[in-house]
Amino acid sequence: MHESCGLFGIYAPKKEVAQITYFGLHSLQHRGQESSGMAVSDGKKIKIHKQMGLVTQVFNSQIIKSLKGYISIGHNRYGTCGSSSLINSQPIMLTTNLGTLVLAHNGNLINVKNLKKSLYLKKESFTTTSDSEIIAKLIAKADGRSWEKKIINGLTELKGAYSLLILSKNQLFAVRDPWGIRPLALGKYNGGYVFASESSSFGNIGAIFKKELKPGEIMVVDKKGSRTILKNQASKTAFCIFEYIYFSRPDTILNNQLVYQTRLNAGRLLARQSPVKADYAIAIPDSGTSAAIGFSQESGIPFIEGLLKSRYIGRTFIQPEKKIRKLGVRLKFSPVGGLLRNKDIVVIDDSIVRGTTMKGLVGILRKAGAKKIHLRIASPPLVSPCYLGVDIERYSELIAYKHTLKQITEAIKADSLSYLSLKNLKKAIGRVNCGFCLGCFTGKYPLEINK
Ligand code: SF4
Repeated sequence: MHESCGLFGIYAPKKEVAQITYFGLHSLQHRGQESSGMAVSDGKKIKIHKQMGLVTQVFNSQIIKSLKGYISIGHNRYGTCGSSSLINSQPIMLTTNLGTLVLAHNGNLINVKNLKKSLYLKKESFTTTSDSEIIAKLIAKADGRSWEKKIINGLTELKGAYSLLILSKNQLFAVRDPWGIRPLALGKYNGGYVFASESSSFGNIGAIFKKELKPGEIMVVDKKGSRTILKNQASKTAFCIFEYIYFSRPDTILNNQLVYQTRLNAGRLLARQSPVKADYAIAIPDSGTSAAIGFSQESGIPFIEGLLKSRYIGRTFIQPEKKIRKLGVRLKFSPVGGLLRNKDIVVIDDSIVRGTTMKGLVGILRKAGAKKIHLRIASPPLVSPCYLGVDIERYSELIAYKHTLKQITEAIKADSLSYLSLKNLKKAIGRVNCGFCLGCFTGKYPLEINK
């Protein structure tokens, strides 16, 4: 499963910021691996570079040196709306009556058809197939003699998930949608300011975390400093609960909670809710590791690294052919056979989507000699697609949509299977000052979706 994107932006007077943006994007690589890009302004002109590939493949020292300036925004993309191609990579650059506008977007809009129709009526055409271009065009076409006004006016019709970074020649804007579906944080850096999808990026570049933007908040940074120019929180906020389960890095802070702690709590609660006898607790690395440690602490079952993950193999999830995907799992995970022979194990992971990867892993563990294999999943069954920026697009992709627990257990060939309840998932996160989107677990979404 993949998140749509990672955003990073910086405003640091008298500094060259391209190198810092590169490190910021690198720390957000887990949020998008299809393409990467950054736009940098020196106050007079804006330069942009974007390509398909990982951050380290897209940029080199020459390119970074050529991107001169003290304000920048960067973007890592994993496409959930629009195809995976250079044309859809970000940031998006447009010319408007106020000058150049550059925009980077994380999330998915749900009223794309209507917005596109209204732009067609204004004789607008599109060069990409992503919803992010629609946002840029709406801002470009909006009333207002300043960027502040144009941005506020241009966003009024949007419905769905959008965290945005917007760059003009001398201002940097940060936006969170009124429901607060995707995260966005503010930090201080060396006399300037940084924004990122996840606060964990700040530690990597030596910035200090200041706050998470509130749902519906728009901030601007320019020569006058940083300030909030709009507070437009929806009556019901709906933060994506999956950010806690899988997407965000464990060292990220979301709604004042450390993600690592919530995953540890989930593992502890899972051990209480669905106890099992086993010689060892092992994680599916890396997504299940924090929960597996919590499970082990609570149950007293020793945690071992029974499965090792290759850091250097590409993703398996999007490989279109089943055969290749199967091979991918084998290339990606290696069991520590000597440890597992004739042992009963409990295996902890964050979630199950199709079930194909998990079935492959159970097979690998059996071959390595594990006797009994019990699966414990640190989130509830995924029964519904996501329309708000995550690539769970169809019901048919979800094994838990049409299958009972018994059927899934048999399909995966495990000895037992149990999911964390929704109640316990919320308990693991604890009291936070926001509502949640639970759409993929309940089929009920925070916004009306035209399926
Ligand atoms: S449907 Fe699921 S993945 Fe999508 S935003 Fe809601 S909680 Fe997150």
